[in-house]
Amino acid sequence: MPIDATQPYDDQNIFAKILRGDIPNSTVYEDAFALAFHDINPQAPHHILVIPKGAYVSWDDFSARADDAEIAGFVRAVGNVAREAGMVAPGYRLLANIGQDGHQEVPHLHVHIFAGRPLGPMLA
Ligand code: C5P
Repeated sequence: MPIDATQPYDDQNIFAKILRGDIPNSTVYEDAFALAFHDINPQAPHHILVIPKGAYVSWDDFSARADDAEIAGFVRAVGNVAREAGMVAPGYRLLANIGQDGHQEVPHLHVHIFAGRPLGPMLA
């Protein structure tokens, strides 16, 4: 079910548990600002989620409350994941679902990276 992106951060959400190490994940990248791991239900040959280490529900929550170092670090981390996975030349897609209409299901900001085949035109 999509979440209300205006809700306060819930530290019991599944990605908070992954960040704490309470739940295993298949980490592909980690630095001071971000963790990236394989999506458990991949929608493309390569489907990676990148999450900030800070407690942010959504993109607007992150952009409003995170400091500049966190924002820069997260943006760089997304680029690092794509570069290190060899996605730059063939190309890839970034997606962030936010709130009810965006069909966000996990209330911790995450960016999806899809790659590994021609992804076709963007769907609305
Ligand atoms: O962007 P949205 O919130 O809709 O997507 C959540 C994503 O998190 C889904 O693609 C789902 O497969 C993934 N997920 C995961 N590991 C979990 C729970 C959800 O990779 N333990």
